[in-house]
Amino acid sequence: MHATWMNGAIAVPLATSHAAEETTHVLRDAGVRVVAHAPGGAASSDDVDDASARLYANAGVAAAVVVPPFDDRDRDDARHARRDDRDAGSSVWIDNAPSDPALIIYTSGTTGKPKARPISRRFPYDRGATHTHASLAAQCDSLAAAWEWRDDDLIYHALPLHHIHGIVNAWMCAHYVGARVEFGGDGAGFSPRRFWSRTRDASEPRITVFMGVPTMYVMLLRTLTALDRTPGARETATEAVKALRLTVSGSAACPVPTQTAWRETTGGDVLLERYGMTEIGMALSNPLRGTRTPGAVGTPLPGVEVKIVEEERAGEDEEERRGVYGGGEYARGPGELLVRGPGVFDGYWNDPEKTRDSFDDEGYFRTGDTAAVTREGAYVILGRTSVDVFNTGGHKVSALEIEAKLLEHPEVREVAVVGLPDDAYGEIAAAIVVLRDGDGDGGDGGGGGGGENVDVARVVDVGERERDLRAFCAKDLASHKVPRTFVFAEKIPRNAMGKVNKKTLRKTMFPTVD
Ligand code: ATP
Ligand code: MG
Repeated sequence: MHATWMNGAIAVPLATSHAAEETTHVLRDAGVRVVAHAPGGAASSDDVDDASARLYANAGVAAAVVVPPFDDRDRDDARHARRDDRDAGSSVWIDNAPSDPALIIYTSGTTGKPKARPISRRFPYDRGATHTHASLAAQCDSLAAAWEWRDDDLIYHALPLHHIHGIVNAWMCAHYVGARVEFGGDGAGFSPRRFWSRTRDASEPRITVFMGVPTMYVMLLRTLTALDRTPGARETATEAVKALRLTVSGSAACPVPTQTAWRETTGGDVLLERYGMTEIGMALSNPLRGTRTPGAVGTPLPGVEVKIVEEERAGEDEEERRGVYGGGEYARGPGELLVRGPGVFDGYWNDPEKTRDSFDDEGYFRTGDTAAVTREGAYVILGRTSVDVFNTGGHKVSALEIEAKLLEHPEVREVAVVGLPDDAYGEIAAAIVVLRDGDGDGGDGGGGGGGENVDVARVVDVGERERDLRAFCAKDLASHKVPRTFVFAEKIPRNAMGKVNKKTLRKTMFPTVD
């Protein structure tokens, strides 16, 4: 990426895990001319393999350069080179105008609307968000200030590098302040075991920062239980967690039970949950110091302006509108969250029309997420307006709120709530539930663990389970929020960032709907 910028070019991060079709789409859409190719696995090769070479040629790429495997010994040199640069008044953003495009990140395509000319049928939604050198620097400034990044920080980096979370928050911020990055991923996904063995290793430099998506914390909790087989192992693990000065969760809502289990099992801090997206960088964050609220995403980060635009409906007064969401427990909202600030992107690559539509008259970006502000002043994300917020019998419902409630049930491991069309109510809530299989995976609701008494042969009576879950919801939720339909599944598919594509999930689980 640095080399790209030194040559005045734009960087486009790709993933080796992408399907050929998806890579082709990104290469063509971005008009990529040179590919930096890393041979897969441990194999080092001087040549690009034939299949990749064909793919690149087919996508119009002029040259592919093989990147040698990264040598661990380079890391200190790289770090010091950077610090010297900064001391000399220079920066990573060498010789580039602040307004020059620097990075195009393709969003994951879980909600987007099809483009006018979809490049592939399988990936019709993927679009590139273009950041300039200035917007990236602004994001780094904001997070460096809010999270107090320091040059003696060492981040254990296990996030994909083709998403804003991994490339800006975790990697670029570290380099911006001259901190050190240690890669704990090999591109093949997050290994919680590797995390534990590295953080517990007292002979290595101490890790101070970790960032993950919620599912990574769930995986860490699950594997922590396995450490109990080794005497003293859990203690060294929890000591390592306590030694982290910053533990961030983001990219998707972190369920409160995961927060609770993390605190109770590891003795670590409340995970610092923040909210952001590819187009805007990070917008809202719980505080580094001070009280963090599980289930909320804090307040606007430095330099970020936000507003909540509530849906206006003719002839409706304030009371009625609040009543639609039930309870009126919020000081502001719910409504669409809009964001403005120097970290916001330049626009969608090749899509000026979509870019224009995404900003309001005052230059705020429309996130497409529904948010509210609690009486205590914390922002809460109720989900993506198009798939997570729906209307049932005249009441607005947040899928995330129902999911959060169901996750408190000791038998529920994972859940996704979607809205289904309904003649009587307009839409109804349907819950897709993955039950715990009694393998003591570190959960049991409060995180006590204790996976000794495994009742594998337990017969699940679906009818009874459904009645039980419905009654569990009805205890605390208004009746219109209680799912009408429950479906039990083996697993809920998630993308590299642990996100559920609800449109696809709804189609898979309810093929006759829509
Ligand atoms: P696409 O726009 O193509 O569907 P994407 O939105 O999944 O892709 P990202 O920009 O990485 O790609 O994700 C941003 C979205 O993730 C936000 O709009 C929001 O819906 C969700 N999100 C991020 N952080 C949080 C959080 N802490 N709580 C709830 N949702 C979050
Ligand atoms: Mg998005």
